Amino acid sequence: MEYGSERKLLCTLGSRLWQRGFVAANDGNLSLRLAENLFLITPAGVSKGFMTPEMMLLVDERGQVREENGYRPSSELALHLHCYRLRPDARGVVHAHPPAATAFACARIPLTAPILGETLLSLGEIPVAPYGRTGTDELPRAIAPLVSRHNGILLSNHGALTLGDTPTAAYYRMESLEHTALIHLYARSLGGGVPLPQEEADALRLLGGQPG
Ligand SMILES: [Zn+2]
Repeated sequence: MEYGSERKLLCTLGSRLWQRGFVAANDGNLSLRLAENLFLITPAGVSKGFMTPEMMLLVDERGQVREENGYRPSSELALHLHCYRLRPDARGVVHAHPPAATAFACARIPLTAPILGETLLSLGEIPVAPYGRTGTDELPRAIAPLVSRHNGILLSNHGALTLGDTPTAAYYRMESLEHTALIHLYARSLGGGVPLPQEEADALRLLGGQPG
């Protein structure tokens, strides 16, 4: 099968999303860039915990399926393609609904307080994109102003989105984003985290190579 190892990688990362409870039922989607205008994306209507390599859809930059395999591409295909269009450096995009991150997305509270050094290194500031209905052009439009400067974004009343220079890096950012959201929740329950000094926060962001 063409692109066998890349197809397998999406299955492995999808399985991790499901095992960690970052998606329920058939939620979530992952994609990777094979070449400038060629991508693999997960299928619609399938649990990310039970995917097999032949289910992955090969699509071009206009979203046209290159090889029919009996599956439809994820309903968020336009969101993924928009990320690749705006971020030529991105080679992986992950969308999921991890509970703590999604709680912040539903409350529309960005994860911007510089209280956790690791987050500044791996993600920088995590903003909230305006609401856009899932599976429509509203969602790519909503993230457009943010995606050039951020590798992790909360989607209002919906979930989270991460990008990386490899699919695995995008996946790890989803883990870090959810971990960050949980720690922010716990810190809030203790009266709030103490922010790092601005110079230290900026230095960590710079060290992590974050665009924001
Ligand atoms: Zn979603």
